[in-house]
Amino acid sequence: AKETGRNNFQFYTSAMNERAMERLRIESDLRNALERNEFALHYQPQLDLKTGRLIGAEALIRWHHPVLGTVPPGRFIELAEEIGLIVPIGVWVLRTACRQSMAWQRAGMGPLRIAVNLSARQFYQQDLVATIRDILAETGLEPQLLELELTESMMMNDVEVAVDILRNLKAIGVQLSIDDFGTGYSSLSYLKRFPIDLLKIDQSFVRDITLDPDDAAIVLSIISLAHSLRLQVIAEGVETEAQLAYLQRHGCDYMQGYYFSRPLPTTEFELMLGSVASA
Ligand code: C2E
Ligand code: CA
Ligand code: CA
Ligand code: CA
Repeated sequence: AKETGRNNFQFYTSAMNERAMERLRIESDLRNALERNEFALHYQPQLDLKTGRLIGAEALIRWHHPVLGTVPPGRFIELAEEIGLIVPIGVWVLRTACRQSMAWQRAGMGPLRIAVNLSARQFYQQDLVATIRDILAETGLEPQLLELELTESMMMNDVEVAVDILRNLKAIGVQLSIDDFGTGYSSLSYLKRFPIDLLKIDQSFVRDITLDPDDAAIVLSIISLAHSLRLQVIAEGVETEAQLAYLQRHGCDYMQGYYFSRPLPTTEFELMLGSVASA
C-alpha cells in the first residue's frame, strides 16, 4: 500500500508539473502573441428587434495560436488579466474595433456601433479615458459609435471610483453597457447612479425563456427595469425563433445570438452585410 501511495504521489506531481508547464508555455506564447500578430477580432451582429435592422456588432477576440489553433477567450483572458497583459491586448482590441467600424463606414456599410469588452484591470487603468480619446481621434470614429461593455462585479469593487470613471467616459461621448446583467452582485441603488445606456441580459436567462417561467420573469423584469430607468436593453445568446419572438413581443430593444449569426471573421461579416443590404 505504501508503494502505491508513493507511485500515486509521483503520478500527481508529474501531472501537476505538466499543468504548470502548460501554463508557462501558454503564458510565454501569450506574451509574444501581440507582436506576432496572432490576435483577431470576430464580430457578432446586433439587431434592432423593432425594425429588424442591423445596428452594430460586438467585437470578440480570438487567438490564432500556431500550434494549438484557435484559442477561445475563455482560455486566455483570465490569464492575460492575471499577468497584466490584458492592458496592451485591450488597447489593441479597442484600436482594431474602432478602425474596423470606421473602415465599414467609409466603404458605405455603416454607421455600425461597435461594442468592446473591457476587463476590470483595463477599467481601472489611470489612462483609460485618455487612451480611448486618443484612439477615437486617431481612427476618426464618432464616440457614440463605440460602446464599452462592463460588468457589475467590476464596478462593485469600488463604486465611488467606478462612478467617476463612468462619468469621465460618458464625457467623451461613448456608450456604456452592463454585460451579463443579472449574474453579478448588483445593487439596484447603484444602478441608478451609474451613467449607463444599455443593459445586456445574460444568455443564461435567455436560454430557457420560453420553457422556464422563472427565467421569463427575470427577463421581463430586466426589460421593464431598464425601460423605467430610461435605458435600452439587449438580449444575448438568442438561439431560436421562439426566443426571438418572445423578446420582440415583450419590448426588448435589441438582440444578438446564433439564431441570426455567430461571431464572424471580418470578411464573412462583410459578406453578411452585403446580403442584408440587398435583401
Ligand atoms: P461575453 O462578453 O458574454 O460574450 C458572449 C459570448 O457568447 C461569446 O463567447 C459569444 O461567441 C457567445 N455567444 C454569442 N451568441 C451565442 C449564442 O446564441 N449561444 C451561445 N451559447 N453563445 C453565444 P466568446 O467569443 O467565446 O467570448 C467569451 C467571453 O470572453 C466573453 O463573454 C467576454 O467576457 C470575453 N471576451 C471576448 N473578447 C474579449 C475582449 O476583447 N476583451 C475582454 N476583456 N474580454 C473578451
Ligand atoms: Ca460582452
Ligand atoms: Ca455577455
Ligand atoms: Ca458571459
